[in-house]
Amino acid sequence: MTTASAGSHRVVIVGAGFGGLETAHRLAGAPVEITLIDRRNHHLFQPLLYQVATASLATSEIAWPIRYLLRGRQEVTTLFATVSGVDPAGKRVLLEDGGALPYDTLVLATGARHAYFGHDEWEPFAPGLKTLEDATTIRRRILVAFERAEREPDAERRAARLTFVIIGAGPTGVELAGTIAELAHDTLPSDFRNIDTRKTRVVLIEAGTRVLAGFADDLSAYAQRSLESMGVEVLLGQPVTECNRDGVVYGGNRLAAKTIIWAAGVRASPAAEWLDAPADRAGRLQVLPDLSVPGHPDIFAIGDTVVIAGPDGNPVPGIAPAAKQQGRYVADCIKARLRGAALGPFHYKHAGSLAQIGKRQAVIDFGRFKLRGTLAWWIWGVAHIYFLIGVRNRLAVAMSWLWNYVRDQRSARLITQGSSKVGR
Ligand SMILES: Cc1cc2nc3c(=O)[nH]c(=O)nc-3n(C[C@H](O)[C@H](O)[C@H](O)COP(=O)(O)OP(=O)(O)OC[C@H]3O[C@@H](n4cnc5c(N)ncnc54)[C@H](O)[C@@H]3O)c2cc1C
Repeated sequence: MTTASAGSHRVVIVGAGFGGLETAHRLAGAPVEITLIDRRNHHLFQPLLYQVATASLATSEIAWPIRYLLRGRQEVTTLFATVSGVDPAGKRVLLEDGGALPYDTLVLATGARHAYFGHDEWEPFAPGLKTLEDATTIRRRILVAFERAEREPDAERRAARLTFVIIGAGPTGVELAGTIAELAHDTLPSDFRNIDTRKTRVVLIEAGTRVLAGFADDLSAYAQRSLESMGVEVLLGQPVTECNRDGVVYGGNRLAAKTIIWAAGVRASPAAEWLDAPADRAGRLQVLPDLSVPGHPDIFAIGDTVVIAGPDGNPVPGIAPAAKQQGRYVADCIKARLRGAALGPFHYKHAGSLAQIGKRQAVIDFGRFKLRGTLAWWIWGVAHIYFLIGVRNRLAVAMSWLWNYVRDQRSARLITQGSSKVGR
């Protein structure tokens, strides 16, 4: 299979997430033919995935067809396919369906997935949040739990259906816990007749000693107080040792819960395995300072699938701005090489960290400048709307948030399967 015209420099980018898409955008105008491969047909704005999982936003508000995003770029071919390996000697990308694609320069931007620290058997009971399917699965489980509780005569079983456990108190865990608490306490009470959804338990379990460990201590403490004031039970220093269909076990305690969500760990895509390249314990490929793969100067790897030290010596965080900066750098590197020049090493610039806790509460950590509360929440909202793609989605998300802000209503409360199919 060949998509590039003969003679031009063929760049193959695997993954149209934040890193891969940025590489393609930045290569505009360069003398290259680009093939962008993704196993999904859409680019996903993962920072707002938890809002789909908690029925606040619809799937189409945070995802865009990749083909549409690049429709004006004649030199870019978009392929909907799954990459299964790389043949560096033959300079070919190998596809799961048996196809192969030649490259002159390859950019691997295949991201990461959630990981269960060696307990993959927990996944069916405690789904993680990474894709649109994950988000709609979690949304279905949350909404079905309330539906089943409404018809449950046994008090103990009803309580288990109305107990939601979130494992991992990073930004995703905190955002999920806060939003589920709001859903139960503010949005749903008037919809049900046999249950009081305000009695729902939302339990956030964290193995470490504080929530939002990547933020400053005082912001962590504020986030914990805010969650507790919203009715979330925060359990710190409690590694979960078991997840099953009836609930979780932590520190020797058994907690009955029908809905468990995993927000605790990630593992890189198998890019390092494809190339037999060095990787850290999370499977992240250890790239060189110019983001190329050791021993393969024509292969770059970027974003969540790699590890590289930042200016403070700590690994560059697995966040969208880091993937985008790396995507821009690699595109500049390719352009420089085509001119016969070379770029200096990649330098990461950390702009800051933001997390939403509840409807009017967020924390912002820009290093020397820190903010919390309602103003932080407004800045968080404006920043996320700004980074969404397209006017229609910005307006749609702003409207959904405004409606929720004013009326406590979440418009995406849809179970898209019949009652006999949803199980449990
Ligand atoms: C729930 C959640 C919330 C987050 N919140 C924030 C936040 O608030 N702020 C922030 O900055 N960051 C946040 N992040 C992290 C951020 O989304 C990632 O750091 C960023 O997406 C990494 O970009 P990437 O390009 O490396 O990978 P991704 O954006 O994950 O893109 C990888 C792409 O590769 C494709 N792919 C993977 N394997 C293959 C294959 N074998 N063949 C073909 N295609 C493949 C995937 O389909 C995907 O499109 C969040 C992440 C999650 C999961």
